[in-house]
Amino acid sequence: MPGLDTLKSTLPRNSWTEDQDIIAPWLTEWRDKHFGKTPLMVMPSSTNETATIVNICRTHGLKIVPQGGNTGLVGGQTPQGEILLSTRRMNNIRSVNKVTNALIVEAGATLQNVQEAAAAADRKFPLSLASEGSCTIGGNLSTNAGGVHVVKYGTTKDLVFGVEAVLPSGEIYNGLTDLRKDNTGYDLSRLFLGAEGTLGIITAASLKLFPQPGHVQRAMVGLKSAADAVRLLDHCRQGNHLTMFEVMPHIGLDLVLKHISGQRRPFASPHTWYALIDWECESESNGLALAEQKLGSALENDLIQDAVIAQSDGQAAALLSLRENMSAAQKHNGASIKQDITIPIDKIASFIERADTAVFKIVPNCRPVAFGHFGDGNIHYNIAQPENSAREEFLARWNDVSETVFDIVDSLGGSISAEHGIGIMKRETLAKRADPAKMALLRAVKNAIDPDNMMNPRVMV
Ligand SMILES: Cc1cc2nc3c(=O)[nH]c(=O)nc-3n(C[C@H](O)[C@H](O)[C@H](O)COP(=O)(O)OP(=O)(O)OC[C@H]3O[C@@H](n4cnc5c(N)ncnc54)[C@H](O)[C@@H]3O)c2cc1C
Repeated sequence: MPGLDTLKSTLPRNSWTEDQDIIAPWLTEWRDKHFGKTPLMVMPSSTNETATIVNICRTHGLKIVPQGGNTGLVGGQTPQGEILLSTRRMNNIRSVNKVTNALIVEAGATLQNVQEAAAAADRKFPLSLASEGSCTIGGNLSTNAGGVHVVKYGTTKDLVFGVEAVLPSGEIYNGLTDLRKDNTGYDLSRLFLGAEGTLGIITAASLKLFPQPGHVQRAMVGLKSAADAVRLLDHCRQGNHLTMFEVMPHIGLDLVLKHISGQRRPFASPHTWYALIDWECESESNGLALAEQKLGSALENDLIQDAVIAQSDGQAAALLSLRENMSAAQKHNGASIKQDITIPIDKIASFIERADTAVFKIVPNCRPVAFGHFGDGNIHYNIAQPENSAREEFLARWNDVSETVFDIVDSLGGSISAEHGIGIMKRETLAKRADPAKMALLRAVKNAIDPDNMMNPRVMV
């Protein structure tokens, strides 16, 4: 194919491969749900090389799927014959400015590298996900990732000054500012945040840094109900120190203890629900006092049934590990029908009750594992297959279960995608359920920037 030959003859030899053994791991995603194919993986080392690739692809009518860490959960990074453009070699920290609190980083750096670079400058980059050792900043921006600190710091969109991106035209858009105020027209950088690679390739970003907290105090509590979890959230966020409020059900914790090695049971007796809580404080003594005061009054008011307050970094890490392994543990528990939804926080308990009742009617004896970022109204509403049931028969109900769940989400004023995005997995659902004016605007933006549908052509719109 002439386009492929031109890419291979133009790019440095280490910037491309057609060796399918090397490419294979990047064609299967984390859930083993989407499997891809590509004739060529290109791995540019710079923004200019990325622009060269885009120009060659445009000239020859080749389509591109950008990919960072391949941890996306909606199939958006998996090519089906398109050129796979991996950003992982563009991974330099370009600068850290402690006065403007800005860090400029290339798109292929992992989130963990960015957190470490910020910490080395005595600053905090607050985005935090269980996949942070593998996911890249470019992927985080393109999916507008959420994670466990949204309660205080917002989603990725709130943590970005601007981006540098290679457009489908081959031009380089430079939005690498550190200005906190700039009212000069549309906020173009933000178009790329949550665009899932459909508008161009993010090659670098200017990120917002924050002061390091003196101490992070962690605790875990046992609860009677999801409604109590929501009441506890309100109690815990008074005073403005709350940074994390994650909730998991008894079945979820049990799966982690059963399937993931090295985990410790946090409570002597089981509880129906658990919440994992972080507060940022000035010092360790402040943190302990705050946790004791908050959880003591919660116990007195029968809001919680038991509490463990971390007394060391090791204990804090062990508690977090229970939450972080929630997805990994479910892999050992047979098939799951998974949804990442948001609803207004005050409707969480009602959602869980209604959704559980509805899915039991479709799949009797199924096992709902509703967990996640309750502090943001974001629930990973996963339905595990009934014990001793046939996997394929269960997965055949995916659409029935999902549509039923989405009906409830819509009726409560929620969203069918909280933080994972649309990808190919929810593309049809979005088209069916979104406000027509919104769909028309999404398509108008896509057509204006990528009229030939060259960038991630099967995703989102
Ligand atoms: C164990 C686990 C836990 C997770 N926890 C969370 C969580 O708490 N919160 C959350 O939001 N997500 C979570 N995720 C999902 C995932 O980690 C995030 O979506 C992450 O932001 C994806 O980054 P990535 O580099 O792996 O992107 P990829 O998977 O490579 O790509 C994701 C999408 O972004 C596009 N893309 C990637 N890089 C670029 C670029 N440079 N320019 C343009 N487009 C690009 C791709 O085309 C694709 O559409 C989790 C995933 C796993 C496996």
